Amino acid sequence: MLEIRSLTCGYGAKIVISGISFDVKEGELFGVIGPNGSGKTTLLRALSRVIKPMSGEILLDGKNFQDIPIRDFARGTAVVSQLLPLVEMTVEEFVLLGRTPHFENMQFVESKHDLQIAHQCMALTDTLRLRDKPINHLSGGERQLAQIARALAQEPKLLLLDEPTAHLDITHQVVILDLLRKLVRELKLTVVMVLHDLNLASEYGDRLALMSQGSIHQCGIPTEVIDFSIIEEVYKTVVVLKNNPVSHKPYVFIVPQEELLKDKVRK
Ligand code: ADP
Repeated sequence: MLEIRSLTCGYGAKIVISGISFDVKEGELFGVIGPNGSGKTTLLRALSRVIKPMSGEILLDGKNFQDIPIRDFARGTAVVSQLLPLVEMTVEEFVLLGRTPHFENMQFVESKHDLQIAHQCMALTDTLRLRDKPINHLSGGERQLAQIARALAQEPKLLLLDEPTAHLDITHQVVILDLLRKLVRELKLTVVMVLHDLNLASEYGDRLALMSQGSIHQCGIPTEVIDFSIIEEVYKTVVVLKNNPVSHKPYVFIVPQEELLKDKVRK
């Protein structure tokens, strides 16, 4: 569905990601991981057309990004960033913003159909109960669910998310990622998400791209990417890798410096 070919992009003359290539298949939950500053958010900005490629190309369903009218692009692709609007609005008003790309010419307010879709998306994300609350009064987890509801109201085929579980407790991490998995499995949505947490990426990603210094270091299923020598090389940190006893997915344990020193003394 998404083909990234020799993509180079950055800001002004500054190159941040350089010559990267990978594909995302339809109905896949695809995770982008990597150390701070490796270019994950910049890649997501390129995929959401916030920044233009300096060279290379991005194809969506075989069509070059630049040839897709922005309105068609906005109908098919939704973005959940870490930013929230500063203006006061209710959750319902916020979710309805997702319908804007579907408005007809000269349509200035939402139709009954728009409201119906917004309510369906709020029900799916368990935010219908919050519909009259100001968006700025929600907890972090509720806000993230409202952001996903707004994105779903766009009725996209592709959903791009920048660290959807940042600053959330484990309950909400699981709620958000279970929801994304359900959307992928049941609605055949394609999801590309940047994740900070290697273990969440390993647990939920169908495939992962590990970025390092603006390039893709490794791309594949979690067992091909979450490998101790690869993680140690990219993150320059000693780790221990075990499998989750329930899901059997790789799980990364960090090792504090003090333990490493004790271990050396013992040897
Ligand atoms: P990550 O998401 O992996 O932490 P980013 O894509 O945010 O990485 O950043 C990669 C590099 O791009 C960093 O060196 C960062 O300073 C630089 N960068 C990010 N945003 C901008 C910007 N708006 N203008 C200039 N440089 C930027």
